Amino acid sequence: MSRMHDFGGINLSLLDDVLTENARFVLDQGRQITKTPAKKIALFTCMDTRLVEFLEPAMGIRRGDAKVIKNAGNTLLDPNGGVIRSLVVAIFALGCEEVFVVGHRDCGMAQIDDADLEQRMIERGVPREAIAALEPSLKVWLGAFHDPAANVVRVAEMIRANPLIPRSVPVHGLIFDPYTGRIELLSSGYAESVR
Ligand SMILES: [Zn+2]
Repeated sequence: MSRMHDFGGINLSLLDDVLTENARFVLDQGRQITKTPAKKIALFTCMDTRLVEFLEPAMGIRRGDAKVIKNAGNTLLDPNGGVIRSLVVAIFALGCEEVFVVGHRDCGMAQIDDADLEQRMIERGVPREAIAALEPSLKVWLGAFHDPAANVVRVAEMIRANPLIPRSVPVHGLIFDPYTGRIELLSSGYAESVR
């Protein structure tokens, strides 16, 4: 399979493209910025391409304002996993005071079929045993995602109930429209948190 892509008649790999763009980008920088978030927000959202450079401005979040955690479908199943660990660091080490779980309409995770995904992995040489060893399984993980809004509500509840997350931290659930940019509140963390 070719890794070359046609960028306006010039054949470059995606890696070349990123490195070339970066060299150009670095020339424009100079402003100092700290790693402590200015708005004290931890944002957990989906990796969807339509959200890049769209969700953050829609929330009034600029560079330096928030800690951003992304995965496929802003899903959370493991109470000790990477998402919770990132939130622990964001809250206890980096000063985040509120958590925003933001799902989005038309999320691709709702359409992914576990059997189809497994078949594609096997066709590309992934060992069946490696897939079978996944915990939670592909079926449980994808099966938990029926609807982006229901997922947000469930994930926000899971974070609030997690013993590693202090009760004083409000955890909000919101849903974003990736076309209009509109955000709807599904559950406010202020009602649930204990100050
Ligand atoms: Zn998504």
